[in-house]
Amino acid sequence: MKHWETQYETMSLESMREFQSARLRDTVQWVYDRLPFYRRKLDELGVKPADIRSIDDIRRLPFTVKNDLRDNYPFGLCAVPMKDLVRIHASSGTTGKPITGPYTAEDLDQWATCMARSLWAQGVRPDDVAQNAYGMGLFTGGLGFFHGALKIGCCLVPTGSGLTERQIMLMQDFGTTALFCTPTYALTIAEKAEQLGVDLRKLPLRLGSFGAEPWTVEMRKEIEERMGIQAHEAYGLTEMMGPGVGFSCEAYRLHLNEDHCYPEIVDPSTLEPLPLGEKGELVFTALQRRAMPLLRYRTRDITSLRRVECECGRTLVVMDKILGRSDDMLIIGGVNVFPSQVESIIMEFSEMEPLYQIRVNKKGYLDAMKVEAEAKPEMYGRGKEALAELGQRIAARINAVIGITVPVEILPLGAIARSEGKAKRVIDERTA
Ligand code: ADP
Ligand code: ZN
Repeated sequence: MKHWETQYETMSLESMREFQSARLRDTVQWVYDRLPFYRRKLDELGVKPADIRSIDDIRRLPFTVKNDLRDNYPFGLCAVPMKDLVRIHASSGTTGKPITGPYTAEDLDQWATCMARSLWAQGVRPDDVAQNAYGMGLFTGGLGFFHGALKIGCCLVPTGSGLTERQIMLMQDFGTTALFCTPTYALTIAEKAEQLGVDLRKLPLRLGSFGAEPWTVEMRKEIEERMGIQAHEAYGLTEMMGPGVGFSCEAYRLHLNEDHCYPEIVDPSTLEPLPLGEKGELVFTALQRRAMPLLRYRTRDITSLRRVECECGRTLVVMDKILGRSDDMLIIGGVNVFPSQVESIIMEFSEMEPLYQIRVNKKGYLDAMKVEAEAKPEMYGRGKEALAELGQRIAARINAVIGITVPVEILPLGAIARSEGKAKRVIDERTA
């Protein structure tokens, strides 16, 4: 069996649009009848559910933003009574109230299916031993992968994140073949294993499904090399379901489960939809959910979409790598900069570790940033002058590629905090 759900994963564009149109009609009616929030918004725009006929009519629908979820915390956007919920997740919500993600039994089953599609595409099979090192709990990562693995029927080891030495011990003792975690935690595990003298490349470990934060192709290759695995990608967000929204296939293309989450790319300033291939803000409409089907939810993730004839046989739309969240975008000297662009450049230098952070502070009225990155120990040992010269070479490359002039400081191994979940790349030292 090549795909988990061949019917949906390889649907013709025309049939997919018909399917999406039918689901959109149903969803709009569902929220209109149940959520005063959407009824008011639609009424204000003079749009009735009956006006929505095809998926193209989605442009007539209102957007939903993160603040709408905060303002309606905890259940103002929940379209079913509490008794119909079987699960509630929440996103980290580092500032203020978290975002809630409620599920009916049907929602949970669909989530599991989307995750099974993803893991299957990445090569997870019933005979795999999968170590799930995503945070277990309110965060959707841990349980999302759990549900997908359960559907496939592989043997799951729910370690959760952290206790890295124990992760490595279990990996050896249980013969783990698949690892699920954030890309930065995969790197932390790889580094710890090297310190312990454990060669992960000699273990049965053969694939990873990594996500929940931006990472570059260069980072993928680094992890693949150090772990001796194929490093696949998972994409998702609590507001839509959690992981399972998108997944990379054997060709490393990230397909979106567009029969569940309908994607659009819009210009973040005008909110006008952009054509395929153009970069903008990713927006999703939930087409099959019952508990919290959001209309045109603005993710703040910056990327583009493409229709590709993929060798995996899937027709599901392809999403380019997420450049970052618009919240993480820095404006330095009038140039927009994402941490992932800096990551790509650092990883070009073989003297460097794949570990870096960006300090942002104010220089007069203007933001200024500084890149701090770790050198490999043999490089660091070469002394001050060599390090300063390396810093300058990296700075020159940043200038050539991104067009900004920023200092680069080379740090010794271990200077930057290791991550067990989502890495914090930007340290904001600006005083309000
Ligand atoms: P929080 O907003 O608290 O981090 P989530 O866990 O729901 O909560 O995070 C979802 C976000 O994580 C996405 O909107 C996106 O910014 C990021 N993300 C998830 N997967 C990926 C990925 N594969 N690549 C880049 N970013 C990702
Ligand atoms: Zn593919």
